[in-house]
Amino acid sequence: MSESVVGRQEVFSRLPAVDEVLREEAIQAALASLPRPIVVEAVKSVLDEARETLLALEDEALAEVVVLGAHEAAARSAERAAEAARPALRRVVNATGVVLHTNLGRSPLAPAVGDHIRQIGTAYSNLEYDLAAGRRGSRYAPLVRLLTTLTGAEDALVVNNNAAAVLLCLETLAAGREVIVSRGELIEIGGAFRLPDVMVKSGAVLREVGTTNRTHLGDYARAVSDETALLLKVHPSNYAIQGFTASVSAAELAQLGRERGVPVMEDLGSGNFIDWRPYGLPHEPTVSEVVASGVDLVTFSGDKLLGGPQAGIILGRAALVGRLKENPLTRALRVDKFTVAGLEATLRLYLEPEHAIEAIPALRLLAAPAERLEARARALADRLRALADRGLRVEVRKEVAQVGGGALPTASLPTWVIALSAEGRSPNSLEEAFRTSPTPVIGRIREEAFLLDCRTLLEGDEDRIAEAASRIPPQ
Ligand SMILES: *Cc1c(COP(=O)(O)O)cnc(C)c1O
Repeated sequence: MSESVVGRQEVFSRLPAVDEVLREEAIQAALASLPRPIVVEAVKSVLDEARETLLALEDEALAEVVVLGAHEAAARSAERAAEAARPALRRVVNATGVVLHTNLGRSPLAPAVGDHIRQIGTAYSNLEYDLAAGRRGSRYAPLVRLLTTLTGAEDALVVNNNAAAVLLCLETLAAGREVIVSRGELIEIGGAFRLPDVMVKSGAVLREVGTTNRTHLGDYARAVSDETALLLKVHPSNYAIQGFTASVSAAELAQLGRERGVPVMEDLGSGNFIDWRPYGLPHEPTVSEVVASGVDLVTFSGDKLLGGPQAGIILGRAALVGRLKENPLTRALRVDKFTVAGLEATLRLYLEPEHAIEAIPALRLLAAPAERLEARARALADRLRALADRGLRVEVRKEVAQVGGGALPTASLPTWVIALSAEGRSPNSLEEAFRTSPTPVIGRIREEAFLLDCRTLLEGDEDRIAEAASRIPPQ
């Protein structure tokens, strides 16, 4: 038994040295285009891994082990170095069917918006310079003009995201005092935004009224006191309470606020500018409708249904927005020039709403008729079937997609998907193969198949999916 034992040290010594691997052709080629420290690091990590594999072997297995050679080590290292040299944040294909997917960056910007951001970001600009007057100006001015024109609001302010918008409003108007909220609207949305926690940080005191499923105007009215700073309504972004329910409309709450001299705010979450009913989706009040209902402040995100960059948009009465602008927190939550550029360019597209639906990717994806998705799915399925040697089974199916991003929570979007499965291969292993391809493709697993949803594909994504599929090793 013991005669087969080979000294571990002797086996280790058969591993190539770093310098030896570095002299290999594959590494010399890699060095021509990649930074040397990245290549050296990759070689070291490949050799370290080989050493650890040997270390983990039983004594008996050492005699038969095939030690990693310099040639193979070089090939692996070159691949690893190429991967390490690429930016970690990269384009992916969203084949999940969730249009506003927070993990995948929410809304993709319109190409014209991206061009504008690049122009502004790579040169000097009049970000805070009033060109007409020749002196200091406000970065918010172009956004205020567009937002008030588009919504009918008196004034506007933009901060880093909607969570910041809510924090700023509560801190300015209600620190140390009470904010009345319906129990049915004390929300948590993905990514750890819990309204009660944000309230604590703002210094406002939460006063819950009603029950989870039913809140009436009288519940708010009875709770108003000298301590009340704000009546707050929150859009139930990612859920819907169904059945025996009651909630108070923004208009009713605004009326109560006026009667009792208390400002009323609505956190809209998504902030919609389009009437979606002609596209088969349920009615989601538009921002203009909410403003017209008489609430004093409205907040929403820039990168949900608006389809622009991440931002928190605040609309409302001039006197209240004026107080927000004077709060030192506003400086801390300030948006950068990329956001101003991206938001201005996106809002300009809304000056003609039909144009917005065509030009803004998130809106175009939501509006796409199911028949068009079916045609796309069938064409893509044919391309994937052509890769016959991968042993892929390719089916086309009708499915249901989601808006996502806490918008239109009850809306179900008809969609068409490609369902992939393979003999002797789990859906998880297909999912992994697509996810780890050079342009990652993210889909979902449903029962025994890996699904690629055509609802969320952008232009050219078919090529990226076919490329990822072609890298699946033949069975
Ligand atoms: C999404 C959402 C937020 C948080 O917005 P961010 O822009 O992600 O900070 C707050 N409130 C509601 C109701 C939301 O849907």
